Amino acid sequence: MYPANFDYKRPATVDEAIALLTKHGDEAKLLAGGHSLIPAMKLRLARPGVIVDIGRIANLNYIREAGGAIAIGAMTTHQEIESSKVLRDRSPLLAETAAHIGDLQVRNKGTIGGSLAHADPAADYPAAILALDAEIDLAGPRGKRTVKAVEFFVDLLQTAIAPDEILTEIRVPATAKTVAYEKTEQKASGFALAGAAVVIGADGVRVGITGVAAKAYRATGVEHALAGQRTPSAAAIAAAAAHAADGVSALGDIHASPEFRAHLAEVNTRRAIERAIARG
Ligand SMILES: Cc1cc2nc3c(=O)[nH]c(=O)nc-3n(C[C@H](O)[C@H](O)[C@H](O)COP(=O)(O)OP(=O)(O)OC[C@H]3O[C@@H](n4cnc5c(N)ncnc54)[C@H](O)[C@@H]3O)c2cc1C
Repeated sequence: MYPANFDYKRPATVDEAIALLTKHGDEAKLLAGGHSLIPAMKLRLARPGVIVDIGRIANLNYIREAGGAIAIGAMTTHQEIESSKVLRDRSPLLAETAAHIGDLQVRNKGTIGGSLAHADPAADYPAAILALDAEIDLAGPRGKRTVKAVEFFVDLLQTAIAPDEILTEIRVPATAKTVAYEKTEQKASGFALAGAAVVIGADGVRVGITGVAAKAYRATGVEHALAGQRTPSAAAIAAAAAHAADGVSALGDIHASPEFRAHLAEVNTRRAIERAIARG
């Protein structure tokens, strides 16, 4: 199917892109890798009057160390994240997570900024971004602001990004190797039926879950159950993982019932914690 007609704009800078968003308001949509927006346009689920292609903005594609963190430009592709030596050495969870996304074609075109902005409830990065307690920079006509990962995902396909703002950078902390991402995927697309990302550090365990609810979330019940335990037993890990879907309204569809998704959240959380500990 063909998308509805639209105007095409290709700004050279972030400021130009913000000016276009401000001018065209609700009519405008940013285009990054196009691997969520173009399918939605072809299905006429999205009908933007103006496409603002940010693919030629030079300074939005990078991965670099910045103090104790690693800064990632919004237009960095999944493949670049998967193969980044800096990330693999200094903060390996995001690279491991990127390797789970779709297939090679999707990973070559899709961007981290586009994935986070789209906020698909079954996308992989949100689990890792939450477990890493990442920071997300947004730029708009009122200037720049930083949003913590826990405040970024608002609801199904909804984030803290205002319509006239652009996600410009994601910062993740350097971590030990004690991280892991475990996922049960929907076989045709690769999207997560349930995915669990785990970071174990000096300050405890952080768990991010995707695929289960309308938005990705921190599994605080699991985190609290493991508080103060540096080397929990297998039984303690299993008991903690049983809290993976506490307080969550799990989604059901033709691929998995709510009960099955909650069960997969528990299984993947247990496996991710066990694997993260084994790496230490
Ligand atoms: C066949 C297939 C399989 C897939 N499998 C998976 C999978 O297993 N796991 C997974 O996580 N994802 C999967 N995806 C989705 C893929 O990761 C997309 O690349 C991603 O969701 C969107 O990134 P994009 O760069 O393509 O964004 P686009 O499609 O260009 O944009 C998506 C949305 O975000 C907005 N946007 C884009 N960039 C910005 C920005 N910098 N600031 C603000 N708003 C912005 C756009 O306006 C649009 O609304 C799959 C996609 C396909 C087509």
